[in-house]
Amino acid sequence: MDWIPVNDLSRALSGQADAIQEVVARVVGSGWLVQGPEHRAFQDELAAFLGVDHALGVASGTDALELALRATAPADRPVVLTAANCGGYTTTAARRAGLRVRYADVDPESLLLTAATVEAALDDTVGVVVVTHLYGRTADVAPVVELCHARGIRVVEDCAQSLGATLPAGRAGSFGDAATFSFYPTKNLGALGDGGAVATRSDEVATVVQELRQYGWTSKYTITRDGGRNSRLDELQAALLRHRLPQLEGWNARRREIIGHYADHAPASVRVLPAPDESHAGHLAVVVVEDRARLQEHLAGLGVRTDVHYPVPDHRQPAVADEYRGLTLPVTEQAADRVLSLPVFPELTDLEVERVGRALASF
Ligand SMILES: *Cc1c(COP(=O)(O)O)cnc(C)c1O
Repeated sequence: MDWIPVNDLSRALSGQADAIQEVVARVVGSGWLVQGPEHRAFQDELAAFLGVDHALGVASGTDALELALRATAPADRPVVLTAANCGGYTTTAARRAGLRVRYADVDPESLLLTAATVEAALDDTVGVVVVTHLYGRTADVAPVVELCHARGIRVVEDCAQSLGATLPAGRAGSFGDAATFSFYPTKNLGALGDGGAVATRSDEVATVVQELRQYGWTSKYTITRDGGRNSRLDELQAALLRHRLPQLEGWNARRREIIGHYADHAPASVRVLPAPDESHAGHLAVVVVEDRARLQEHLAGLGVRTDVHYPVPDHRQPAVADEYRGLTLPVTEQAADRVLSLPVFPELTDLEVERVGRALASF
């Protein structure tokens, strides 16, 4: 069968082969491989794109979360509050940062945290709230920031899936105390391997992340900040990301167009999470359906691959489930059984998109 993949990086790579060769040649010719001019320029260009003062390259999105949490968590409040339906990255990062994790349920319509779901789960131990702009949709984060700041709590936005998403008041990633990004190859802005970034308006947060990402150095060979590590974005990745960043918004628009087509063709039993405007980066085309197994089988029978983001909520992950045995998050748990991701990436052809639309319509 002629399968339609959920994602296919080879199409973008072959389409950009010449540009990639040129970027590699430029970096190799420069003699700089880490922390050089491409990285500096990418940091500046990303910060300008986001409308914030600082962007700092790191080695992955998970590292970005870990370092952002370490730079924002108040010393006397060792708990991070977040959602449990976002793939476990914040949980992994917070535990690496030595912080405990508490979970709030999500809004049933958007499957995102809101000020109301956060407020219901806050207590005096929470020092940082991580809001994930899941699937590419910008959460209504300004009211969360207002609620949290009034209580001395910091807010980190996880923008790994939402780079380019824009509200009238600013880009996703420009609202909280810090924001984190991933350039893993399947993200909307992907590198040729791993990469990530932390963005912030705060000079203080930027300084801490800058020191932590490179051994705790304040200057070469002088370790001033304890607990540092090595987490860098190399020149090759930075140069390729510079080449791709100006194309991001066009790619995101194509992703939204594809999701819109699915929304127009889905039957009433399949709820397509909408990506109506620029507040959504179109990272994933997610539907909510009661009988997921049946829809998955129906689509597979018509050559449409699907995936689940994410099947296991954080508080049910085997590594930590013992700690959360008493916790129930009804919306999160139901969503884990009902969400299904359809193919979406900019290089999908119109014919493929129409085939997916027809396959949905015939369910
Ligand atoms: C991909 C992703 C991450 C982690 O990024 P890596 O670069 O793979 O470490 C974090 N949060 C979300 C929501 C993601 O989708």
